[in-house]
Amino acid sequence: MKIGIATAVAAGTLFAGLVFAAVVNASRADKDAGNWLFHGRTYDEQRFSPLEQVKASNVGKLGLAWTYKLDIDRGVEATPIIVDGVMYVTGAYSIVSALDAATGKELWKFDPKVPKDKDRDGCCDAVNRGVALSNGKVYVGAYDGRLIALNAKTGAVIWEADTVLDHSRSYTVTGAPRVVKGKVLIGNGGAELGVRGYLTAYDAETGKQAWRFFTVPGDPALPPEDKAMEMARKTWFGDQYWKFGGGGTVWDSMAYDPELDLLYVGVGNGSPWNRKLRSEGKGDNLFLSSIVALRPDTGEYVWHYQTTPGETWDFTATQHIILADLDIGGTKRKVLMQAPKNGFFYVLDRATGALISADSYVPVTWAKRVDIKTGRPEQTVEGDWTGGAKLVFPGPAGGHNWQPMSYDPQTGLVYIPAQEAPAFYPPDDSQRWTSKGNWHLGAAPLALPETLKELTGVQSLYKGHLIAWDPVAKKEIWRQNYDQIWNGGTLATAGNLVFQGTADGRFVAYSADKGVKLWETSANTGVMAGPVSYSVNGEQYIAVAAGWGGAYPLALGAMGAAKVRAEARVLAFKLGGTATLPPPQNSLVALPEPPATPLDAKAVDRGRIAYNSHCGMCHGPSAIGGGVLPDLRYLTPEKHQIIAGIVAGAYAQKGMPAFMDVLKMDDIEDIHQYLIQRARDLKRDLANNGATAPAVK
Ligand code: CA
Repeated sequence: MKIGIATAVAAGTLFAGLVFAAVVNASRADKDAGNWLFHGRTYDEQRFSPLEQVKASNVGKLGLAWTYKLDIDRGVEATPIIVDGVMYVTGAYSIVSALDAATGKELWKFDPKVPKDKDRDGCCDAVNRGVALSNGKVYVGAYDGRLIALNAKTGAVIWEADTVLDHSRSYTVTGAPRVVKGKVLIGNGGAELGVRGYLTAYDAETGKQAWRFFTVPGDPALPPEDKAMEMARKTWFGDQYWKFGGGGTVWDSMAYDPELDLLYVGVGNGSPWNRKLRSEGKGDNLFLSSIVALRPDTGEYVWHYQTTPGETWDFTATQHIILADLDIGGTKRKVLMQAPKNGFFYVLDRATGALISADSYVPVTWAKRVDIKTGRPEQTVEGDWTGGAKLVFPGPAGGHNWQPMSYDPQTGLVYIPAQEAPAFYPPDDSQRWTSKGNWHLGAAPLALPETLKELTGVQSLYKGHLIAWDPVAKKEIWRQNYDQIWNGGTLATAGNLVFQGTADGRFVAYSADKGVKLWETSANTGVMAGPVSYSVNGEQYIAVAAGWGGAYPLALGAMGAAKVRAEARVLAFKLGGTATLPPPQNSLVALPEPPATPLDAKAVDRGRIAYNSHCGMCHGPSAIGGGVLPDLRYLTPEKHQIIAGIVAGAYAQKGMPAFMDVLKMDDIEDIHQYLIQRARDLKRDLANNGATAPAVK
């Protein structure tokens, strides 16, 4: 590999002192405490750092070592990878930065130039959860579905592969690739919009496709792709599922056990959510909401465990998977642990997929319990919303979402960024597959209460927790409570510490055994991603990619997220660090005077339905923004003048896709009337309540 002269000069003398990763493998990660080589540090994804220079007795002396501004102030979900003094981290729209891990100095940056209006194909912001590194190459999944291999020294593209099965469907990539036995593994997102899920393996050197494992069956007129699909097809009914896509996207979690040679994959929710539409209201619908074990060489199916048979709540099992060896009932068991969205903490035998335990870690109303013998949940009448709208615990935000949990083998505890976030599911049985870029849930568009007073009542149902869970005793040992949900992933370290960023803009250290808060600092932004620890030149660093956005701030920002600033920045800390955090840039904006246009009540009501069907997923239901994308009640007089042009695509490359395929000029006028009404509602509420206006940009 050659380093371009310009790049080498730009990187200064730094290259001289750095040895870039030659071969990254699991055994090295175990020994190599100073690096963070894999998404979860090691193949078992424990997110436990053996470093102990920073410990409970001195964590109070932790200070900022450096910061690095990421380009786009949208959702930041990346776990940095650190190898021999270089950090590789991603921001929104899959932009990769290589940094000097001791100083934060940029060595190179790679922008895959994802079209900004690609956003319409995603449910949950143009996020990226990080890169994989192997044999001198950095692998990134771009939001538009490309898998790209880069030269780790220069950022130059080595190869690109298109992971998208069907470009007439809304496929995205947000997850971090994993590299196992010379193959790069990547799945996709898009189940809210109607896609068929799968995992694909590519040769790490050439980018040639090695195998593809489908997670749900396709068109029944065609033969099943393999034995697993032959088995799965028997659990699906009717002729709608394959038209909708079926879902089951593999958008986040994977883990690997080299001894058993098993790759574990977390599978997502159904397309559409509503099983009544998807599968005539019956059938387990394999492999939705399942953990599937595969052979990494061939993609061959070995076993599966389905957490939510017949999934109908957006209960993904894509949440972080951790492998550990636990003493259970006097026997050493090789287990797999997951706290998926559905609210139960699962411990499985990872050799066989047999269920060991499943216990609720947050309030759950969709099921009474999980039967250990059959491995199946006992579902409740209260949880079935397909015959009529119901409030269900948890909702689509989950008892735990993608924010990674960690496991400390010293305390034996799992640290879960948990939350209570119920949802009101209103069914819509009339929905059929339409076209790419549109949501297909089999549920009516989410609407939130429309006054600040009503909203406060619903907000009070939302609670965030950090839970320390004992997977052997099957119970909570300690917890920290937060006012908001959507707090950050966790890191456990050998210094008896647990680190977590918070939705309310802090970065905090707790004692791992007792949960005592030992240190905190401001992050100037909501923090969601999982922190990491590494060492360079004998100094231990704790780092996190901070930044706010994603599903909750976009779709449910009104539940409190709007108070949070969104500033994308990598923060690295060390003992005695003296760097300063730049002051927050994004400020509160006063509500512009709404236009005096006369409003027609019928048009406002039509606009309410059209807005919540097509606009609310990103700009917030009931036109209440979440502080990341524009709150449309705050449109300026100039924007009010050009609103039809904006909907037609004038701002497509600023991230606002065109919607003229689904909205006519009359619809846009109705939506505009609704937005003016909502601006007037807010003006009235602010005057009556003296309430604080949400942060908008
Ligand atoms: Ca989903």
